Amino acid sequence: MDILQAVRYRAYSLHNYQQIPQVESLSDRQKFDISVVGSVLPFKVNNYVTDELIDWSDPASDPIFRLTFPQRDMLLPEHYRQMAHVIRSGGDRNAIKEAAHRIRLELNPHPAGQMALNVPLMDGVRLTGIQHKYRETVLFFPSSGQTCHSYCTFCFRWPQFTGMDEWKFAMRETELLVRYLEAHPEATDLLFTGGDPMVMNYKVFSQYIEPLLDGRARTNIQTIRIGTKSLSFWPYKFLTDPDADQFLRLFERITRQGINLAIMAHFNHPRELATEAVAAAVRRLRATGAQIRTQSPLLNHINTDPDSWAEMWRTQVNMNMIPYYMFIARNTGARHYFEVPLVRAWEIFREAYQQVSGVCRTVRGPSMSCTPGKVQILGVSELPLGEGLMQKVFALRMIQGRHPDWVAKPFFAKYDPEATWMSDLKPAFGEKFFYEKELESITSDTPDEEHYLFE
Ligand SMILES: *Cc1c(COP(=O)(O)O)cnc(C)c1O
Ligand code: SF4
Repeated sequence: MDILQAVRYRAYSLHNYQQIPQVESLSDRQKFDISVVGSVLPFKVNNYVTDELIDWSDPASDPIFRLTFPQRDMLLPEHYRQMAHVIRSGGDRNAIKEAAHRIRLELNPHPAGQMALNVPLMDGVRLTGIQHKYRETVLFFPSSGQTCHSYCTFCFRWPQFTGMDEWKFAMRETELLVRYLEAHPEATDLLFTGGDPMVMNYKVFSQYIEPLLDGRARTNIQTIRIGTKSLSFWPYKFLTDPDADQFLRLFERITRQGINLAIMAHFNHPRELATEAVAAAVRRLRATGAQIRTQSPLLNHINTDPDSWAEMWRTQVNMNMIPYYMFIARNTGARHYFEVPLVRAWEIFREAYQQVSGVCRTVRGPSMSCTPGKVQILGVSELPLGEGLMQKVFALRMIQGRHPDWVAKPFFAKYDPEATWMSDLKPAFGEKFFYEKELESITSDTPDEEHYLFE
């Protein structure tokens, strides 16, 4: 294929996915599953994903198919039965909508009461498009970047994509953002997130960036990060889309001003690194002086093979990208389908990490983004209790902490082979983890809250 030949973007969802030519090869049963699960969980895919990433010879076991198409087991059997019943008995749109809403409410749609804690106030106004959890880094949710080129089936933003949440974290204006950053010189990093900010066209996107450039703002921003899945889901964004070159020139302008531009690229599987289009897009981005850092959650049914992680990191480095995070998937939506016990997550990380050289070991993980911070699982150890007794523990540390003092301090949890998230862990010694008292004083309004963010 000639990569510089423009490819027209075609998006598919539940209503028109049967027009995807390859879908003909699916069985009636598979299509029915898609309509049942896709009525509850968001579904959107595009022609790059269907034409160049999915191997249609056996879609049921294809990681990219599972990553983007609804799968039967993503709903609990009870929920599946409820929705299948509504559809089989000829329920109309409203009946389907109602059943979907009822099921969604049982899927822990808001693992974060995150607004209350992370959304800053300025002059008495809640800046809902901003989250400022860690001192150095401000997250910005531009209102026009709250959707994606395709949806990942595991995504914790699913309530937003089903219309449950109406993009409530988004902000239209950069003016408030700039004022906030000017008032917070401790913030050195600005992270554009979404959805995917790279769904915006140039005209819209540049309006968010321009106010930060050419010395117009007196902020202390030294790094601009853009969290995006566009390299995996639509690399033509940087190749043949009509405004591709404008984006690249803007990126060049950013880096020439001495601002570090980091594309935080989201890759879940080595397959996403294998097309000519992604290779070309990476080359063009790197030529602007931008860095590309990579991240992914660990997902059952998609990427639990340590070799595929080692291959991902190695390939990324060869392509001139920097491995950054391996995350533990959040406890929301179809978590039962994707979750991996923490101990297994650590084993996979370790088996992959052991296979690669130091240039790939910039990756950090496995890491949980939870209320106190980004908690990394260092491993499983046995500690002597005296009198020849040993206690098995998880050794943990924070890569990021809500309180900067918490970072990089080792702490221990009781070993639990079934634990899949921080909330399952108990302190190995004493009643509380070292940070809990201080955390309670910060979070007393919303004690259950768990946090953002893996983009
Ligand atoms: C991960 C994350 C960041 C970025 O943290 P770094 O350690 O700088 O990569 C910022 N804000 C939130 C809420 C995060 O979860
Ligand atoms: S993981 Fe990122 S690209 Fe995927 S659906 Fe969620 S926000 Fe969009």
